[in-house]
Amino acid sequence: MERGIERIFRGSPEHWVGNGFHVSNYFPSATDFEKRMSPFFLLDYQKPERYAPTTRRRGVGTHPHRGFETVTLAYEGAIAHRDSAGHGGIIRPGEAQWMTAGAGVLHNEFHEESFAKAGGTLHMIQIWVNLPRRLKLTPPKYQDLARPTVAEKALAGGRGLVRAYAGEYEDLKGPASTFTPVRMLDLRLKPGARVRLPTPSDYNTALLVLQGRVRANASRDVEAGEFLLFKNDGEEVNVESRDDSIALFLSGAPIEEPLVHYGPFVMNSVDEINQAIEDFHAGKFGELED
Ligand code: MN
Repeated sequence: MERGIERIFRGSPEHWVGNGFHVSNYFPSATDFEKRMSPFFLLDYQKPERYAPTTRRRGVGTHPHRGFETVTLAYEGAIAHRDSAGHGGIIRPGEAQWMTAGAGVLHNEFHEESFAKAGGTLHMIQIWVNLPRRLKLTPPKYQDLARPTVAEKALAGGRGLVRAYAGEYEDLKGPASTFTPVRMLDLRLKPGARVRLPTPSDYNTALLVLQGRVRANASRDVEAGEFLLFKNDGEEVNVESRDDSIALFLSGAPIEEPLVHYGPFVMNSVDEINQAIEDFHAGKFGELED
């Protein structure tokens, strides 16, 4: 059965993350979203925006995370990452970085140096994927989902492309290893393209449109910047593109546990949040220079 449409909405007014990411938050700021998008906990979207050339570093300096994963996807521009577990990388258009903070890391996120120097358009998304209690303190990990590793499939008739970062699409399998079932698909669709994305009915499932207009199931046209949350009342999602469109498909098995969020920490209890703060101040997350 085709899923119904629960809600279509835009993100919050934009705010700055550090001085490099001018983002709109889609959740958890929207009501009830701790439960409705689990295992995804947060989504910040930087719509295409031009940055003037600069030799100063733009971005967000060293800060901690514990208890979840940060996934950063670039559509335009380039983002450089470094963390206290010794990992680093540059995320370029069509690429993603899947960082497991787990027990705790310090990291920083800046516009990549040559991109900042030249100036240009930045278009990116950051998603936080929660970890279940038994994996909150898993060792930090870093997956560089660079272009050649991302599974891609052309649609019949040259009508676009489905790219899998995580989870399956038909015979594709995304390169990300995830701790719980997660699907994260990058849809690049020509006008009239149709894509069928079946997903178990208990998976929380949504589509963020980044460019153009699409319809999904019985929805109206969903435009760039709009987020479509599906009801959990069926397996079928059918997307039809009205334009040259880009959309991100998110679907995942919910983590049914209590959740306490404080700043950069996502844990199960207030005690665990206090422990995270204490451990951070005691230097247990390692060391990292900006
Ligand atoms: Mn961060």
